[in-house]
Amino acid sequence: MNELTHYINGAHVKGTSGRFADVMNPATGEVQAKVPLADSAEMDHAVQIAAAAQPAWAATNPQRRARVLMKFVDLLNRDMDKLAEALSREHGKTLPDAAGDVQRGLEVVEYCIGAPQLLKGEFTDAAGPGIDMYSMRQPLGVTAGITPFNFPAMIPMWMFAPAIACGNAFILKPSERDPSVPLMLAELLEEAGLPKGILQVVNGDKEAVDAILYHPVIQSIGFVGSTPIAEYIYGTGCSQGKRVQCFGGAKNHMIIMPDADMDQAADALVGAGYGAAGERCMAISVAVPVGDETADRLIEKLVPRIEKLKVGPYTGGNDVDYGPVVTAAAKANIERLVQTGIDQGAKLVVDGRGFSLQGYENGYFVGPHLFDHATPEMDIYKTEIFGPVLTTVRAQSYEEALKLAMDHEYGNGTAIFTRDGDSARDFASRINVGMIGINVPIPVPLAYHTFGGWKKSVFGDLNQHGPDAFKFYTRTKTVTSRWPSGLKDGGEFHFKPMD
Ligand code: NAD
Repeated sequence: MNELTHYINGAHVKGTSGRFADVMNPATGEVQAKVPLADSAEMDHAVQIAAAAQPAWAATNPQRRARVLMKFVDLLNRDMDKLAEALSREHGKTLPDAAGDVQRGLEVVEYCIGAPQLLKGEFTDAAGPGIDMYSMRQPLGVTAGITPFNFPAMIPMWMFAPAIACGNAFILKPSERDPSVPLMLAELLEEAGLPKGILQVVNGDKEAVDAILYHPVIQSIGFVGSTPIAEYIYGTGCSQGKRVQCFGGAKNHMIIMPDADMDQAADALVGAGYGAAGERCMAISVAVPVGDETADRLIEKLVPRIEKLKVGPYTGGNDVDYGPVVTAAAKANIERLVQTGIDQGAKLVVDGRGFSLQGYENGYFVGPHLFDHATPEMDIYKTEIFGPVLTTVRAQSYEEALKLAMDHEYGNGTAIFTRDGDSARDFASRINVGMIGINVPIPVPLAYHTFGGWKKSVFGDLNQHGPDAFKFYTRTKTVTSRWPSGLKDGGEFHFKPMD
């Protein structure tokens, strides 16, 4: 049995808590490794090392820090296939999708190479007689991140690349479901020249998360995962005086207007609904065709496309569209929710129940499902299913479709498919969702913009990556300086404008 480790102070370190979790191969249902679950003493050890290493890293000029990231990008490209394979083996997604996971993280690393520019402060010359005023952005110190299973390369990089570019030390607590790629990333960063202790990986579950939340030295926490845990981490972290940003679950609606190109919309829905087995926070899980005629045309286009989807293991060749879901529990939960949809009266147009793959009978494969005639009261509409299940809710007008998306508790992403610029513009302007696609089903912003939802999809005020990340991982300090005289005239007792 392969026993995974933590990565502390530049070395693989065995777990000492005595607790482990099984790391499964979701395609076969076999245990392929065990991952140690850290206790608070192990977390504290990593924090002390980070605290000792961080000041020298902060004092390293930003250009030199950026050079480490440049080299890291080269190493990511060198090892892309190896990383993708390790990722697919533990997550289950296809190899091209796994490479995309690494690539979308790599792009944020590339953005962070701009740290010398991004960290420049502001300066006002002669803010008063002999007075200059300037602000600088300084690192926070020891920072931490807690990441989900569904993007085990991308999301850790979204956090640690800006954190370390800004001069912080970072402790990553990855998902216990697929911890190998995060460990590989830490090794690569050290090969790229990152000093020991600046990026450490401490594996674990709630116990390790709580050790982060209550550790007095840790200054900030980034979290991505489900909404109940996001709420817990945000509330607890803030109560401990930390800077916290938490990104939660989603139920992304795609509105299909009567004038949309129906082939384009159907292709987009199939990719966005079933890609990665629906285990993406930006997956489209609700289709909202406007008008019954649009709905009928859409369903007619969707059904053959969905029935053609090839579900299989990542080793199954290039024509596999999506792989298994991550755990047996996730599969059981999806099946339970599908049953509620049937029981509550939605029409199951494509029935993926009972899907089995020869040779992989113990894998966590779920066939594609398509519901029509769902209503907002149903569990399949209200709940994030996080599986290959697309739910159609018919709206009778654009306003009804808009209201549906606006009334949902989640607000991560959404899309509208239309040929009418006026509808698209109105939608983008009025919708209360963070990321909007116009004829683009998965509108994940690129590295130099920022990523974040609204409503219950986010807790905190700054987004991930882009300029917001450089704000999140730094504190502003503003200096007012007066040279060379003035003080000898005696103290100032009144708060007054600088004239
Ligand atoms: P999860 O909430 O189960 O786990 C996320 C992290 O929290 C993991 O590291 C896990 O170890 C830890 N954790 C789990 N239970 C905990 C507890 N009780 N106390 C403290 N920590 C705990 O999420 P997941 O299943 O790994 O990921 C899927 C979820 O993440 C979905 O809801 C998806 O929408 C969301 N997600 C959101 C975004 C976004 O940017 N908004 C991106 C990716 C995934």
